Amino acid sequence: MQVTLEAVAGVFGLLIGSFVGVVVDRVPRQESIVLPPSHCVACSAPIRAYDNIPVVSYVVLRGRCRACGTRIPPRDALLELGTGVLFVLLAWRLGSAWVLPAYCLLAASAVAISAIDIEHMRIPSALVYTAAALGAPLLVLASAGTHRWSALASAGIGGAIAFAAFFTLFYAVPKGIGFGDVRFAGLCGGFLGWLGYREVIAGFLLSFIVAGVPAALLLAMHKVKRRTKIPFGPFLAAGTVITVLFGAPIIHAWASL
Ligand SMILES: [Zn+2]
Repeated sequence: MQVTLEAVAGVFGLLIGSFVGVVVDRVPRQESIVLPPSHCVACSAPIRAYDNIPVVSYVVLRGRCRACGTRIPPRDALLELGTGVLFVLLAWRLGSAWVLPAYCLLAASAVAISAIDIEHMRIPSALVYTAAALGAPLLVLASAGTHRWSALASAGIGGAIAFAAFFTLFYAVPKGIGFGDVRFAGLCGGFLGWLGYREVIAGFLLSFIVAGVPAALLLAMHKVKRRTKIPFGPFLAAGTVITVLFGAPIIHAWASL
């Protein structure tokens, strides 16, 4: 049963990862995510269904357009692979098929938001609102399936506390984080809150740790200036997803320090 759930999640993750690529490409340019269908950016040749198989097509075509031979950037294949791997890990760690859809949605959103934040230094609000609108019923489904109705209350409170904390940070530290980070923190806080309050704390602590370590190293090596802007979204995403996957052992280890 476990292996089946992981395999299904992996295939689903590759397909959703393909859609994540479309979102990362089009949402920042405010283009439709449905039309026009995928096409080569160089020669505009439509990409046939058999050339649109996640990761596999990229490898078979050796990263080139079948029609004109132009190099296809590896970004989309990496997004597909990354989303697929995350879905498999979630199926392995969460186990319950009731809880899985909500956290797969969170992971796919986190991948899309991170990629856009790295590329454009902003987090589109439409993406965060869409993830919240789809995530709320999926968390209700998770509660219904696991009979953990109180988790919905802690999800709401977790989201509100995270939003308030980052809202304060946004005003307290000028040019520190963007308002996109405030909205995204609220989203992460909600999903972490469903798991528990300790997960909310662990998720945000981890975000600052994974952000702080490379930033401190780069500063020490004089690679970046103190004012260099670094997008915070990917760190928030990493801290959150790591906590969803490995929160229990991490919290256990911290508690025994
Ligand atoms: Zn082409």
